[in-house]
Amino acid sequence: MFRLGGTLRVLMIEDDEDDFILTQALLDGVDQTSYEVTWCADPEAGLHQLRTGNFDVCLVDFRLGAKTGIELLTEAGDATRSVPSILLTGKHDADIDVAAMKAGASDYLIKGELSGDILERTIRYALQRRELDQRLEHLAFYDSLTDLPNRVLFLDRVTQALARQARAASVVTVIFLDIDNFKDVNDTYGHSAGDILLRKVSARVRSQLRLEDTMARLGGDEFAICMETPIRTGNQIAIDFVQRALGTLMEAFDLEIGASVEVRASFGISNSTAEAATATELLRNADIAMYEAKANGKNTYAIYRSSMHDVLQRRTSLEKDLRKALRTKSLDVAFQPFFVLSRGSNDPDTSSNITGFEALTRWTHDELGPQDPVEFIGIAEESGLIVDLGREVLLKSCRQAVEWTASHGFDGFMSVNVSPRQVSHASFVDTLNECLSETNIDPERLVIEITESVMFGDPDYTIEILHKVRELGVRIALDDFGTGYSSLSHLHLLPVQLIKVDRSFVARAEEEAGRAMLGAIAAMASNLELTIIAEGIETPEQQEILHEMGYDYGQGFFRGGAERADTAAASFLAKQIRE
Ligand code: C2E
Ligand code: CA
Ligand code: CA
Repeated sequence: MFRLGGTLRVLMIEDDEDDFILTQALLDGVDQTSYEVTWCADPEAGLHQLRTGNFDVCLVDFRLGAKTGIELLTEAGDATRSVPSILLTGKHDADIDVAAMKAGASDYLIKGELSGDILERTIRYALQRRELDQRLEHLAFYDSLTDLPNRVLFLDRVTQALARQARAASVVTVIFLDIDNFKDVNDTYGHSAGDILLRKVSARVRSQLRLEDTMARLGGDEFAICMETPIRTGNQIAIDFVQRALGTLMEAFDLEIGASVEVRASFGISNSTAEAATATELLRNADIAMYEAKANGKNTYAIYRSSMHDVLQRRTSLEKDLRKALRTKSLDVAFQPFFVLSRGSNDPDTSSNITGFEALTRWTHDELGPQDPVEFIGIAEESGLIVDLGREVLLKSCRQAVEWTASHGFDGFMSVNVSPRQVSHASFVDTLNECLSETNIDPERLVIEITESVMFGDPDYTIEILHKVRELGVRIALDDFGTGYSSLSHLHLLPVQLIKVDRSFVARAEEEAGRAMLGAIAAMASNLELTIIAEGIETPEQQEILHEMGYDYGQGFFRGGAERADTAAASFLAKQIRE
């Protein structure tokens, strides 16, 4: 960087020794700055020095015998971008002027008009312009938040790596990284906290890379990495990196506002041995693989396979259609009953012990027919549509419960599934509040079903929100208990009143090990004074076992699956009024 008063290293390519001595004398006369001049009489040696010599500025004579200064600068190419070069000519000539600029010269000077002042000023301006150029270039190629290369520079680096790979016997691997639920951090803590998180995440991930690897920020919470690895190691180096990165991200990030969050991320890996010829294709494939990683439960990685392409297309078009279905209010809700297990419930014909319903969203696609909730709820969660979808379901379900109270004397509860993303959304408590006042449902009759994955991200914030939910009077059930992230250590932190034991345990009720688990969970629930529910009861044997173990409520195909409102009322409520 240019500093007035320092020492500047000047390269002078000049075949005439007298001119060199004259120029050196002029520069010696300048106060403020001292110049350390290296003289090269031979153009070839000069060219070599210009490329490798680490000079601040270069003065090139136009007439060099074998070639012109313009030819030399043209040959020097990129070197003139880092070392501003000034052409010295014998007389003023507009054509030489233009040619010199095209060749990369920063300026030109007429030898007969040289003075120390003019030389000093020309060099100073050339250095200032170069510095400005570098800043502009930085803006054009680097992300200002993280100072990582941006997409443009990234694709350029990948292209260069692809060009090198045959000679280097290497494979170019591109890794796409997307922070799971970054939007929630932004929504909850604001953009400046989000920015801090992005900076810290990029630094931690970068620290797991080698110096020669490139990490870029593509925008938002998306990053990409390019690495060149020997063919024989396959994807191992990339996988090792991803695992280290996942590990470092698990440690909480301090958002510098008195809050900290844990980060999960999804990685997609693609390499140049798959059908990818260009940098753009490699990046696109890594993106597709990243989506696969998200679909596989996030906080993991996936390696690109060509079959993934169709999956992504399907997802993208389903997301579009789901958005439309939401707008046109063409989603529906089905209701599956809960029944009392603990008393006299062994006769499947009695509907009198229906104690509540779970609301389950249904979507019948105009062309494709009924859609699998696991898939479209996943898409809704990923795209953020779940927030609006969830609000609709809450409203519809509460309205239905109130309606059934009027029509059938139904006084049970309505249980609505709520995704982590809804809970962490800033509007969640307000949404619940609005739903209560708009439908007039008794808050105690509303249950929200959450899973332990709500504790991902920021557990303290989640717990605070759940306490606010409790203050409204709404009850909280822990869904899918016993799967995935379940941990008893979390359970006592969560203000839950009910737990729903996952159907995978119920399915094993008749095996000894399964029965032992069901019993242990029931005992623990009773210690914590929690209402315990078994889901997925498909046989009378399972029901009998759970009944004997003291499970409070049950749910499952044996007693009834999810039905649209009319059918549900006819099947599960009508008899209640008759009795
Ligand atoms: P879940 O909360 O575990 O819901 C229970 C799922 O098990 C439902 O599938 C239900 O139809 C099914 N099921 C009920 N009884 C039995 C049985 O006896 N045996 C078996 N094998 N399965 C039974 P569904 O409707 O396909 O819903 C799948 C998942 O989609 C739900 O799992 C829930 O996580 C999610 N989901 C559905 N609606 C919503 C919603 O409105 N919001 C949110 N956030 N998630 C929803
Ligand atoms: Ca559920
Ligand atoms: Ca469940």
